[in-house]
Amino acid sequence: MRNCLNAPVNSSLCFSRPQLTLSSPILLPALLLLVSGGFPAPVAHADEVSTEAVSTERPNVIVIFADDLGWGDLSCYGHPTIRTPHLDRMAAEGVRFTQFYSGASVCTPSRAALLTGRLPVRSGMCSDRRRVLFPDSDGGLPASEVTLAEALKDAGYATTCVGKWHLGHLPAYLPTQHGFDSYFGVPYSNDMDRVAGQAKPKGRAIFLDPKVEYWNVPLMQDEQVIERPAEQTTITRRYAERAVSFIRENKERPFFLYLAHNLPHVPLFRSPEFEGTSRRGLYGDVIEEIDAGIGRILDEVRAQKLEQKTIVWFTSDNGPWLIFGDHGGSAGLLRDGKGCTYEGGMREPAIAWWPGTIPGGRISHELATTMDIFTTSVLLGGGQVPNDREIDGVDLRPALTGTGPSPRKSVFYYRGTRLMAVRLGPWKAHYITQAAYGGGKPVTHDVPVLYHLEHDPSERHDRAADHPEVLAEIARVVEEHRQRLKPLPTQLERRIGQTD
Ligand code: MG
Repeated sequence: MRNCLNAPVNSSLCFSRPQLTLSSPILLPALLLLVSGGFPAPVAHADEVSTEAVSTERPNVIVIFADDLGWGDLSCYGHPTIRTPHLDRMAAEGVRFTQFYSGASVCTPSRAALLTGRLPVRSGMCSDRRRVLFPDSDGGLPASEVTLAEALKDAGYATTCVGKWHLGHLPAYLPTQHGFDSYFGVPYSNDMDRVAGQAKPKGRAIFLDPKVEYWNVPLMQDEQVIERPAEQTTITRRYAERAVSFIRENKERPFFLYLAHNLPHVPLFRSPEFEGTSRRGLYGDVIEEIDAGIGRILDEVRAQKLEQKTIVWFTSDNGPWLIFGDHGGSAGLLRDGKGCTYEGGMREPAIAWWPGTIPGGRISHELATTMDIFTTSVLLGGGQVPNDREIDGVDLRPALTGTGPSPRKSVFYYRGTRLMAVRLGPWKAHYITQAAYGGGKPVTHDVPVLYHLEHDPSERHDRAADHPEVLAEIARVVEEHRQRLKPLPTQLERRIGQTD
């Protein structure tokens, strides 16, 4: 029998459909539990075993994604005045990662990485000229990509996307075309569709006292616009309510809920009941409302007695947008923020929660990325990790339970299509550096800048001169990486109505 529980995800062993059935020898499930780091073994697909057996052995998957949340913005990551009791509890009952990365430092490519398990350069979801999709963009996530929703839907899961999509707002690219049974949310960033010609502050000043009517962003249900401009003051609360309803409606079957908040991306909005509740101003109010919604979602999971069979992931798409002053978050002791390839741009708070399977109160220093959420969740759901393309995600199951290391040894930091930096173990080499925003030109380093991130998380002390052997090893990893890279044409530059 072949299975992928203890095979590398890119191994050919991983691509055959799991053949384990309820009639398998009794020793086999026990053996699989051992090799899978204590997780229930993903069993066969829904059409191969009874629904009851599937629902008891495969977890529901909930991925909660914040937008532009910084590494230092949660209580459990050291923020002194933002209160996040529900995320703190989630961390206390689960595992909190200290070295967890997004797939890019801005929204669109980061979301593509999470949902496909692939670096955005492999899917065409990045660009050096337009870094994200805009309302006039003609492209989106190609149909040829396999999303987490598609992989889990094929394995029998109910799926929904609530919140920000930002992988293409035209009909061909919406969530319902990418494996989600339903969609409710704003299809791109909440600062787009800026309304011109009104009496309002100019430039960046409109973000300091934001009004809903300044941004004519649509709220969509499946493929239809149901509200415009979206009432952003209540959007966080409504997303949480949708998430709770979905859990309740699907409690009898495996489900995948992808909740991608539009906030705390600027402009900042919160419900009236959260006005002035935090000691960190408007930004803190926003985070505390997101946290309250997560509390409602976890309460619903518990109320439905699903906590033993639901894995919940929480993280963010990229670091804090520092150019917005105190309307942007904090990367804590990490350098810089959203838009660049220093740590503050891509290292994220990340928590995984699954009572009874993930031991509570653990802090993991293992290397991990959002792309690993894809691979790990597909494997937990008994789905197929695609075998006809490069997948960058790895299986985090042993790292989640603390029974083994993360297979991940490297992190590739891209800005658009350019590989800027590479992490290997504790070391990070910057080949090119560039300011996050403001038009600063990229600087190519003939001798890469080298930081030891465990000794120097703030990236201050260049160790390149002392460690040429580390640079040589990283160069070897880069060469290997490049040989397996076949970039697709960008989806982000073509505009609606544009002719070639
Ligand atoms: Mg973002």
